[in-house]
Amino acid sequence: MKSGFIYSDDNKRYHTQNYHLRHTFGSKVAKISLDAGFTCPNIDGTAGRGGCIYCLDGSGSGSRDSLKSQFEAVRAKMGEKWDTDKYIVYLQAHSNTYADIDTLKAIYREVLGFDKVVGLSVATRADCLDGEKIKLLEEISKETYLNVELGLQSVFDSTARLINRCHTFDTFCRAYDGLFSRDIKVCVHLINGLPYETRDMMLESVRRVADMSPFSIKLHLLHVLRGTPLATMYGRGDFSTFELNDYVSLICDQLELIKPETVIQRLTGDGDKEHLISPLWSMKKFVVLDEIDKEMERRGTFQGSRR
Ligand code: SF4
Repeated sequence: MKSGFIYSDDNKRYHTQNYHLRHTFGSKVAKISLDAGFTCPNIDGTAGRGGCIYCLDGSGSGSRDSLKSQFEAVRAKMGEKWDTDKYIVYLQAHSNTYADIDTLKAIYREVLGFDKVVGLSVATRADCLDGEKIKLLEEISKETYLNVELGLQSVFDSTARLINRCHTFDTFCRAYDGLFSRDIKVCVHLINGLPYETRDMMLESVRRVADMSPFSIKLHLLHVLRGTPLATMYGRGDFSTFELNDYVSLICDQLELIKPETVIQRLTGDGDKEHLISPLWSMKKFVVLDEIDKEMERRGTFQGSRR
């Protein structure tokens, strides 16, 4: 059943990444996550120590295999699941612009040279982007499909301090403007459910980011993972995590605030199931996405309805 939303071929009432990639490349594109062995200024002591309070070592695979071997291994696994011959390499672990320019150049060029790779996604932090790095990213974005993923999580500096993000919203805005003004596609990450954030604060983060017209947005659900400082806070009862119904309702409100042309890359978490303490319902990702579809249909709204 078609939803009638301008950027959808099916029942979706928001602009999915799948829709965007199919319409850009003409067929299914799969994202392959690779660990290039970077670290993060929030872990190595340059900006902070211990990392963000929810971070289980930067979502890295910890793989010491070469990028090529990692790529081939994931591709072989994916081949069992999806019939596709187009891939975007996702440099996801830690901060993937946190090295000297020659190292970055070599890594980006290497992965872009892998068989059937049509683009690159680079996850990083705003404080790991200077003029020289932005220039390199601009160069690459002129040659190929490039997405730079910036972890913001919240526009509130009080929350940034609490989660030990170790950079301010102003720092984020400077890096964002540098990328945006050079026509580099930026994906902004936000997290719903951070300790002591109210629903209004989460809506405000989305409102302010949406007004910056990013190319895409990822809305994450906070996951409490065993072994993190966040798990200690959760164990003490300092905060509680979302119930499914409240989360679905918040996401629909947020989608209604985002411009229709902004691509939605994620609407929930996809955390490490082995370490997940809460919320356990989030393990059923397809149920969550289905509930979001149903709620938007029930409301009769679409992405951007309330703009
Ligand atoms: S910026 Fe990312 S990798 Fe670094 S500590 Fe925070 S979550 Fe972990």
